[in-house]
Amino acid sequence: MAAYEFTDHEYDVVVVGAGGAGLRATLGMAEQGLKTACVTKVFPTRSHTVAAQGGIAASLANMGPDNWKWHMYDTVKGSDWLGDMDAQEYLVRHAPEAVYELEHYGVPFSRTEEGKIYQRPFGGHTTEYGEGPPVQRTCAAADRTGHAMLHTLYGQSLKHNAEFYIEYFAIDLLRGADGAIQGILAWKLDDGTLHRFNAKMTVLATGGYGRAYFSCTSAHTCTGDGGGMVARQGLPLQDMEFVQFHPTGIYGAGMLITEGARGEGGYLTNSEGERYMERYAPTYKDLASRDVVSRCSTIEIREGRGVGPNKDHVFLHLDHLPPEALAERLPGISESAKIFAGVDVTKEPIPVLPTVHYNMGGIPTNYWGEALNPTADNHDAIQPGLMAVGEAGCASVHGANRLGSNSLIDLVVFGRAAAIKAGEIIDPEAKNQDFDPASVEAALERFDTMRHARGGTPTADLRLKMQKAMQNDAAVFRTSESLKEGVDKMAAVASEMSDISVSDRSMVWNSDLMETLELVNLMPNALTTIVSAEARKESRGAHAHEDFPDRDDKNWRKHSLATVGDDWEVKLSYRDVHVKPLTPESEGGIELKRLAPKKRVY
Ligand SMILES: Cc1cc2nc3c(=O)[nH]c(=O)nc-3n(C[C@H](O)[C@H](O)[C@H](O)COP(=O)(O)OP(=O)(O)OC[C@H]3O[C@@H](n4cnc5c(N)ncnc54)[C@H](O)[C@@H]3O)c2cc1C
Repeated sequence: MAAYEFTDHEYDVVVVGAGGAGLRATLGMAEQGLKTACVTKVFPTRSHTVAAQGGIAASLANMGPDNWKWHMYDTVKGSDWLGDMDAQEYLVRHAPEAVYELEHYGVPFSRTEEGKIYQRPFGGHTTEYGEGPPVQRTCAAADRTGHAMLHTLYGQSLKHNAEFYIEYFAIDLLRGADGAIQGILAWKLDDGTLHRFNAKMTVLATGGYGRAYFSCTSAHTCTGDGGGMVARQGLPLQDMEFVQFHPTGIYGAGMLITEGARGEGGYLTNSEGERYMERYAPTYKDLASRDVVSRCSTIEIREGRGVGPNKDHVFLHLDHLPPEALAERLPGISESAKIFAGVDVTKEPIPVLPTVHYNMGGIPTNYWGEALNPTADNHDAIQPGLMAVGEAGCASVHGANRLGSNSLIDLVVFGRAAAIKAGEIIDPEAKNQDFDPASVEAALERFDTMRHARGGTPTADLRLKMQKAMQNDAAVFRTSESLKEGVDKMAAVASEMSDISVSDRSMVWNSDLMETLELVNLMPNALTTIVSAEARKESRGAHAHEDFPDRDDKNWRKHSLATVGDDWEVKLSYRDVHVKPLTPESEGGIELKRLAPKKRVY
C-alpha cells in the first residue's frame, strides 16, 4: 500500500454534514463552548436541505386551534404505530420553541396579516385527533423554507466560531484505543490531503440515501454515507425497509412539487379528469398521508387510468388557483414546473408520479441523538462516541411513514437535543483518547484499495444496476415475488463490487474515486432495505406488501435491525418499539387511549 500522510485535528466534537441537522447540532455545540468541527463534502448551503420547499411543522396555532397533542397523534398515526413514542413526544413538544428559535436566528418566514408566522395545511396533519378538519401547522418561507433555514443556520454557526472543513469527504469512522468511536478519516477533495479528526463525540448528519433508487427527488449527494460508515463498523441500521415515495415528483425529471401545493388547494386527477383522492380518502382527500396518496396514484395508473401517451402518470392541478396566490406562495415550484415539465401552472396541470423522497430508516438513536448498539438484553444500549441526527438517523419519530414537514422540525429539534446531551457528557478539559492504530490502518487500506481498483465494471454501470433493481423491486407496492427477486438481484450487484474499476488514480478532485466511495456507501443502505423488506410479512406505512395487505401488530410492531458482514451478507434482528410517551397521562401527558393502534384511515 502506498504511504499516506495525515494532517491531525483534535476537537471535542466533529459533526459530519452541514445540512439542517448538522448545522443545528454544530451551532448548539459551539454555543456551549465545545470545540467543534463541521466536516462537509459540499458547501453547507448546497446540502439537500436547501431544496426543502413546503415547510416545517409546529403547533403554533397561528391560523386556528392547534396543540402538541394533536400533532403527536398525527405523527403517531402517520408512523403507522412504529415510531418510538418518547421521541415523538419530544419532537412535537419542542417543535414550537425550535421554530421560534429559528425565527429569532433570522429565518425570513412568510407572514399572516397580523405579522405572525404563516402556516399552511399539509398531508396527515389534522385537528381533534384526526376527527376535525385539516390543520394549518406547517410554517413556511414561501416555498423555499429549507433554503432560508440553511442560510440562517450557517451564518449563526460562523458567528459562534464553529470551524468548517468544506469539501472534505469523510471516508470512515475511527475507533479509539478503548473501542469507542473516536472521530473520522477524511479526504480533502481539492488538494488530495488526508485528515484525521480526533473527537470525543462524532455526530453523523449525512442525510438520506435516495440515490440508491433510479428516480428520486433527492440531490446526487444523498448517498447514505453515514449509514455506510456505521455498517462498516458492524453497527446496525434500523427500519430500512421504509422508503417514502412522494406522490408528486415531476414525471420524467424527478424534481419535487411540494405537498404545500396540495396544501394551498391543488388536487390530483386521472385520465378521466376525476379527482380520485375523493374516492379513496373521503375526509382528507388530497391531504391524506403521503404513503396513502402514492398508493392511490399507483393504483390509478395500474388500472389504466394514467395520463399521457403511455398512461403512466397523473396530473396535479394548480390552474384553478388565483395566479397571485401561486406567485406569492409557490413561486419556486411554478418555476420548477416551467423548467422541468414545460408547464405554465396557471394554465395547465403538472405531470407527476410517485417518486422516492425520504428514508424513514437509518442509524438507530434515542431522542438525544445517541447512536444505539442494541444487545439481546438491552435494546437501548448506547454506542459510545457516536451520535446521528437528521435523515441519517432514526430516533424513531417517523416510524413506517413520515408526515410532510415533520423532517425539517426533526432536524432542528434533534440537532439541538444532541448538542444539549453532548454538553452534559463531554468534559472539554479531558484529554482525547488516542486512535486504535488498527482502525486507522483498516480505513486507509480500504481507501487505497478503491483508489487502485482495476476490475472490469465501471462504477456508473454498477450503480445503475443497483438503482434499477431497487426501483423495480422495492417499490410503492411490493410482493413476496418482487422482494425475493430484489434480494437476489442486489446480492448479484453486491458480488460485482469486487470487480469495480476506477480509472483515475489521482488524489486531487478525483470524482471517479469519490463516486466509487459513495457507491460503496449506498450498497449497505440498499441491501439492508431490500432484505429487511423481504422479511417483513405485513403492510405498514410505506411498506405495502400485496401478499400481506394488513398490518400485523402482534408479530411485526417492532423495529428491524440489519447489520452487514464483510461479504455483504445482511443479518436481521429486531428491537422493541417504545410505546410509552415521555409524560404520564396523570401529569398532563396525552391520553393513552389516543395512542392505541387502530385502523389507519384518512
Ligand atoms: C426536494 C425535497 C424537498 C423536501 N421538502 C421538505 C419539506 O418541505 N419539509 C420537510 O420537513 N422535509 C422536506 N424534505 C426532507 C428534508 O428536506 C430532508 O430530510 C432533510 O433536509 C435532510 O437534512 P439532513 O441535515 O439530515 O441532511 P442533508 O441536508 O442531506 O445534508 C447532508 C450533509 O451531509 C454531508 N455529507 C454527506 N456525506 C458526507 C461525507 N461522506 N463526508 C462529508 N460530508 C458528508 C453533505 O455535505 C451535507 O452537508 C424534502 C426533501 C427533498 C429531497
